[in-house]
Amino acid sequence: MNPSLESFSQGEEIVTGQTLDTNAVWLSQQAVTMGFTVTRHTAVGDKLEDLAQVLLDISKRADCCICTGGLGPTSDDLTAEAVAKAFDLPLIFDEIAYNQIERFFLNRNRQMPECNRKQAMLPKGSIRLDNQVGTAPGFALQQGRCWFAFVPGVPSEMRHLFLEHIQPTLKDRFDLIPSKLITIRTTGIGESDLQERINKIAIPSHVQLGFRAELGEVQTKLLFPHDYPNQHIENLTQSISQVIGDAVYAIEGLGQQSVDLVSVIDGLMLSGQHTLAIIENVSHGLLAAKLVGVSWLSSAAYVQSLDKLCQQFHVENQPNDLFSTAKTIAQALQDNTNADMILIQLTDDLDVNTKTQNGLTTVTNGLLVKGKYAQTIRTIAGNIERKQHQAAMLSLDLLRRYLQGKAYE
Ligand code: AMP
Ligand code: MG
Repeated sequence: MNPSLESFSQGEEIVTGQTLDTNAVWLSQQAVTMGFTVTRHTAVGDKLEDLAQVLLDISKRADCCICTGGLGPTSDDLTAEAVAKAFDLPLIFDEIAYNQIERFFLNRNRQMPECNRKQAMLPKGSIRLDNQVGTAPGFALQQGRCWFAFVPGVPSEMRHLFLEHIQPTLKDRFDLIPSKLITIRTTGIGESDLQERINKIAIPSHVQLGFRAELGEVQTKLLFPHDYPNQHIENLTQSISQVIGDAVYAIEGLGQQSVDLVSVIDGLMLSGQHTLAIIENVSHGLLAAKLVGVSWLSSAAYVQSLDKLCQQFHVENQPNDLFSTAKTIAQALQDNTNADMILIQLTDDLDVNTKTQNGLTTVTNGLLVKGKYAQTIRTIAGNIERKQHQAAMLSLDLLRRYLQGKAYE
């Protein structure tokens, strides 16, 4: 059995919903990858009694707990006091911690405020975790069944202390055998559609299936026990990716590194020695922004009005025939550039540039390569920012499908 791990987030801002508990998300991902079974996330406001009670409960039920927040200098930061109360430990002045805090201020030409002295008070018997990126040191101690690590809530400091001090210690203290995680990355398909396709496949009960949806992309996650045979992992992954079909653009975990859609496209554009010119409309410049830094983008233009675009290219806007209009513009642009690929994204929805418009918009994406023109037509919904994002992803997806030799539909 894997050792169990909990995360414990402290702070009124977490329980009242003013701050999203991203620390718990990040820590859980790290812990699962390392081979822990993450059993619980708890969040508690700045109340001494409640904090102490939760710490006591965790010390009886978990093998490990990472606590974030509440190490600041102000009176609402109560972690060290809560540990003292829960486990009946005095707080002891740590001179090295104090000197580090003082140096942190001196390095910034500032006098250390008196209240920061509190951050050098650590529970008796705990190990100090030096913080190179902020003022508050973390600390760690064993209580009951549980090894506790306490780190500041600021995400960059939390990550620093975890990677520098906690992760190496966890590897020493626990028998960890990492689970195997496969991520099937898809674009152009929704979560429910994915689920229906995957339902056709019997997934063994000890394999965990999960989905992570973002705008324009869904990731299907398969978590295998560490002793699951590699050949079976490959077979199941292949079967699932086959039922999903052309929407799969990358599979992570079978020896490949983590890749996103733009890096997959970048690799294929470079190896094919292609160059690309784009015209975008609904994505309002986001398509070009997503391609920032690639060497093969020879020109990018954002046009707000289809009429103006037609005038610019001396093309007649053919009512109710966006296909012909887009194709003619793509050809005209090809004549004006050296790019061997043209990607054009248009809509005839005149309201799409209005901030308040939330209705449906039909987006046409066309790709002209070597005289061949292919296009997709999709209906998108939501506010202007959501449509902006979706439209950019649809354009990238058309390009990706062409480069991977997949169907455009
Ligand atoms: P603290 O260490 O409790 O003083 O927290 C300092 C700051 O870190 C807070 O004001 C939040 O902005 C941030 N923070 C604290 N806890 C979390 C958390 N669980 N997830 C993300 N950010 C957090
Ligand atoms: Mg706090």
